[in-house]
Amino acid sequence: MALLAAERPEEVQALFDVADGIRRRYVGDDIYLRGLIEFSNVCRRSCLYCGLRAPNAKVERYRMPIAEIVETAERAYHLGFRTVVLQSGEDPWYTVERMCEIIRSIKSRVDLAVTLSIGERPREEYAAMKEAGADRYLLRHEAADAGLYASLHPDLRYEERLRCLRWLRELGYQVGAGSMVGLPGQTLEMLAKDILILRELEVDMVGIGPFIPNPETPLGSAPRGSVEMTLKMVALARIVTREALIPVTTALASIDPLGREKAFLAGANVVMPNVTPLKYRAEYRIYPNKACLTDDAEHCQGCLALRIASVGRRIGTGYGHSPRHERLASGQGQRREGYGQHA
Ligand code: SAH
Repeated sequence: MALLAAERPEEVQALFDVADGIRRRYVGDDIYLRGLIEFSNVCRRSCLYCGLRAPNAKVERYRMPIAEIVETAERAYHLGFRTVVLQSGEDPWYTVERMCEIIRSIKSRVDLAVTLSIGERPREEYAAMKEAGADRYLLRHEAADAGLYASLHPDLRYEERLRCLRWLRELGYQVGAGSMVGLPGQTLEMLAKDILILRELEVDMVGIGPFIPNPETPLGSAPRGSVEMTLKMVALARIVTREALIPVTTALASIDPLGREKAFLAGANVVMPNVTPLKYRAEYRIYPNKACLTDDAEHCQGCLALRIASVGRRIGTGYGHSPRHERLASGQGQRREGYGQHA
C-alpha cells in the first residue's frame, strides 16, 4: 500500500526500476507477441463495467464461424506469431464440442500455442479443452476484494472465479489472472489485495489494465483508472511474481499513446496485437476508443517492432511458455522459485 501510495517522482521511478531489474534478471529482454482473436462479442453476463454485457443493446453482436477462426489463427501463424489468444464474451453457442473442434483444427494445421479467454465453464469443459490441445487460460480475477467484486458482478461469485482458477491450474493449463485499476470504490488496500492474490494463486500470467468507463454501461460516468497507478500495479505484479508473463494491456495503450513503452519499462514482457478480422473489430467494444481499431495485423507488427526496439528489447521467437510451468512439466518445479522470496 505504501508503494502504491508513493507520489514523489523519484520514488515512483525507483519502483519501476526495481521491477525492470527483476524482469531483466528473471525473464530477460524478450518480448512475446500473442495474436488476439476476439471471436465473439456475445455474452450472457452483466458485469457492470463491460460493454459486451448482455443488457447492452447498442453493440451489434457477431460470432465468427469456426472455419474463419481457424483461418485467422493460420494467418497469425504465417505472420510469425507462435501463440494465439481466443477471447470472447461468455457465449454458449461455442459449446465445449465446438471449442474443442476449433482448438484441434488449429493445432493440426499450424504450430501455435493456444490460449483461451472465454470465461467461466464447468471443470469437465476446461478438461476437455485442455485435452484438445489448449495450452493456457486467461481468467482475470478482476477484483480480489470480495465486496468490490460483488458490487461489479451481479451474476458472478468471487469464490467461483477462484475455483475456476484452481481447476485450470490442476488441469495443467498455464494460468493467467489479473485485475482492473481505478474501479469505482477501489481503495489502495483493495489494489494491494489484487497483488497478493497473484502470489497466492502462483499465476503464470498477469493482465492488469486501467478501468475505462463505457457510456453504454451503468459505470459510464465514473472516472477512468490512471496510467501511473496501472504502471505501479504492473511493477508490483512483476516484483511479486518474478517470472510471470505480463502483457501491456490494450486498455493501457488506449489511454496513453506511450503506455506500451512505459509498461515495458515497469515489468511487462508481452504484447497482444489484435488479429481479429477488421470487419468485426469495432464491435468488440468492451470500452470506447480502443487502441488499434483500424490497424491490420501487418501494420501492427511494424509499429510494435519499433516500439520494442525503442525500449532496447527484442521480439521473442519461441512460444514464450511460462518458465514456472516448464519447470513443473519437467519435474523440477517443487521449489516455487520466484514466489515470495526476496532478492
Ligand atoms: N469473457 C472473458 C473475457 C473478458 S474480456 C472472461 O470473462 O474472462 C477481457 C477483460 O477486459 C476482462 O477480464 C476485464 O478485466 C477487461 N474489461 C472489461 N471491461 C473493461 C473496461 N470497461 N475497462 C477496462 N477493462 C475492461
